Amino acid sequence: MLNIKGLTKSFYNSVVLSNIDLSIEKGKILGLIGHSGSGKSTLARCLVGLEKPQSGQIYLNDKLIIPGQGDARQRIQYLWQDPMQALSPFLSAHGAIMESLNGFNIGSKGSRSARATKLLEGLGIGSDLANRKPHALSGGQAQRIALARALAAEPNLLILDEPLSSLDLPTQIATIDLLRKIHADRQISMLIISHDLAPLWQLANHIAVLDKKEIVENLPISEFAKKARHPLSRAYIQLSE
Ligand code: ADP
Ligand code: MG
Repeated sequence: MLNIKGLTKSFYNSVVLSNIDLSIEKGKILGLIGHSGSGKSTLARCLVGLEKPQSGQIYLNDKLIIPGQGDARQRIQYLWQDPMQALSPFLSAHGAIMESLNGFNIGSKGSRSARATKLLEGLGIGSDLANRKPHALSGGQAQRIALARALAAEPNLLILDEPLSSLDLPTQIATIDLLRKIHADRQISMLIISHDLAPLWQLANHIAVLDKKEIVENLPISEFAKKARHPLSRAYIQLSE
């Protein structure tokens, strides 16, 4: 579904990602772990055209894409690490979804408002929340709305950048449940970025570890605990037990 080949990204003289090869199969969830500053967000941002890699190719459904352009802009959706950053301060949740539906010309014009309401309700966002602007939302609520906005575009791939790190524990648990439900209902592919392994046990089909600019481990979740060899992978496993 998504194939990254030989992606290299540097800022000035400093190489952040070196010759990255990574794939995500249709309908599967890839968990990407790495310590802070290892280049996880930079990789995600390269996939949506917010950063431009020096070299490498990205294929979506076997077609070479220019990230952030044409159909790819709709089909790959990125959820920012800070959900507040993803939402316009001027738009209600319903307005944010409408903007996405209008922008990508999804459904007939007359059907969009009801479609937005239904999408929000499906994610547990009733009319009270749907009419609020971001300043009146908690972090967890803002994230749910940012997620609804990303899903409104009907993406093939949803990239979630540390979706749990800004949330308290009950909201983390609710978010894991919600992501599982979304995945079960929609069968979309996901790239979930995390700085620890624990939440990925419950979410991912595949785990990749990023360290020192490179992918140092890449295994199905069912084999990860037994077969991962890299010292960093072993450390993540030990910490998550
Ligand atoms: P992670 O998401 O894994 O914490 P990032 O991808 O945000 O890591 O950052 C990787 C490295 O790239 C860090 O050293 C960071 O300082 C650097 N970096 C990220 N964005 C820029 C930028 N726009 N200009 C210069 N350096 C950057
Ligand atoms: Mg990051």
